[in-house]
Amino acid sequence: MRGVIMHSPGEVRVVDRDDPTIIEPTDAIIRITATCVCGSDLWPSRGADTVDNLLLGHEYVGIVEQIGADVTTIKPGDFVVGSFVTSDNTCEICTAGYQSRCIHAQFVHGSIGTQAEYARIPHADGTLVATPGQPDPDLIPSLLTASDVLGTGWFAAVAAEVGPGKTVAVVGDGAVGLLGILAAHQLGASRIIAMSRHKDRQALAVEFGATDIVEERGEAGVARIKELTGGLGAHSVIEAVGTQESMMQAIRSTRPGGHIGYVGVSHGVDLPGGELFFSAVHLHGGPAPVRRFLPELIDLIWKREINPGRVFDMTLPLEDAAEAYRAMDERRAIKVLLEP
Ligand SMILES: [Zn+2]
Repeated sequence: MRGVIMHSPGEVRVVDRDDPTIIEPTDAIIRITATCVCGSDLWPSRGADTVDNLLLGHEYVGIVEQIGADVTTIKPGDFVVGSFVTSDNTCEICTAGYQSRCIHAQFVHGSIGTQAEYARIPHADGTLVATPGQPDPDLIPSLLTASDVLGTGWFAAVAAEVGPGKTVAVVGDGAVGLLGILAAHQLGASRIIAMSRHKDRQALAVEFGATDIVEERGEAGVARIKELTGGLGAHSVIEAVGTQESMMQAIRSTRPGGHIGYVGVSHGVDLPGGELFFSAVHLHGGPAPVRRFLPELIDLIWKREINPGRVFDMTLPLEDAAEAYRAMDERRAIKVLLEP
């Protein structure tokens, strides 16, 4: 089969990979219908991680081709959406709702790599969820977002305790931040402040439910949030970047007693203890337990109540993966869908 790897930092190649086969009785083999490039995929291309023929891609939807002897909830021919972290969905951590930290968790990025034609998914029952039937083609991009960016934005909003009567600020205008806005809107937030300086992303933020736009960043951004919230700061803040600047912007934009859902993959973040102590904010985040939310998100998409697939503003064949990475790195695209 064909699959995408990062040969060395920034060097994205489409190569021949071995076809996956069933290894464990809990495995499933899926034929990938659609996959995409994530903001987190760009970190290794910036030299932020060590790279040696890294298997790329962790977002995926597809059709089940084959199942192991112990798989019971899905069958060949089913259309499935899977989480970007595999999970058994039965251990104590999973049943508490933290499937991305399952005792059997495996990050699809680097170990499976779903920017490919096929994938072997371990713990298929605990990782994959079948849709009610074969989806109309226009639903596929939205279902694909449930695999990570929508599920992650949703978790961020839940972790930030978003709800009716709350003012929410969203740091980061990538796909996760934008879908955090959609989640905040669905969860009934009264006011949603998007922090963005890009016109196209501002427009999508408003379409997803943002009520205010703040273009300032850093201290000026914090000052604007305070100004818009009677000097107090937001009740709920979604952090969807993962840098020192964005984390401090999130903490300083939150009112005492408020909640931060942080889901940007942390790179070089070092929180100052004294400031954190006196901020009196709740911090809750990490790799999103997407599997917890998949049934609910698939249902909302299936009923066409949400249209998160709007974050894809470019579609390319899998063979053009290198161009997809360039387009996102240069911010020519918000998110690129790849068709194997
Ligand atoms: Zn588990």
